[in-house]
Amino acid sequence: MAKIIVFNNDTDRMETYYRDENSPMPYNTNGTLRVREFRGASKSNTLWTTKRTMQSWNSQRYIFGNPIPVGYAFRRPYEGGHSGQSQHYAGTAFDVGQRWTNAQRTVLRNSAINSGIWSYVEPVSISPTWVHFDKRFGVPSCISRRVSNFKKRKFKQLCINSTR
Ligand SMILES: [Zn+2]
Repeated sequence: MAKIIVFNNDTDRMETYYRDENSPMPYNTNGTLRVREFRGASKSNTLWTTKRTMQSWNSQRYIFGNPIPVGYAFRRPYEGGHSGQSQHYAGTAFDVGQRWTNAQRTVLRNSAINSGIWSYVEPVSISPTWVHFDKRFGVPSCISRRVSNFKKRKFKQLCINSTR
């Protein structure tokens, strides 16, 4: 059972969910993104993401029209990850298609770029053996929130991680 904290971009509030590993992520449609897929190899008891990230996944999956095998999305800073991509620490990035052919990855990479859904799609020169896309949000959306100290602390962490 994972505790999943979701920043709801529409209400500016944090939401907490408890889901088992085989369940879809909150806001995921048609079971296309399971908790275990989002988690990948992360051992963290608590995972977090944003509603906008989950909706972006739904849209990308719909546009692509076929299953997208997820290597991982979420990672804690101490669990490493590929260079310069702290978006994974904020739960707003995906690394997918690790077991695909280069040709398959090219199709998805182009789909991700052309969809206009993502803030950033990593070029093949940087990540040739997987496809990275992320949905980052900027500093302005991180401030002046009416939240409790506890939630503020959580949220601050999200913001710092998402803007590096
Ligand atoms: Zn990545």
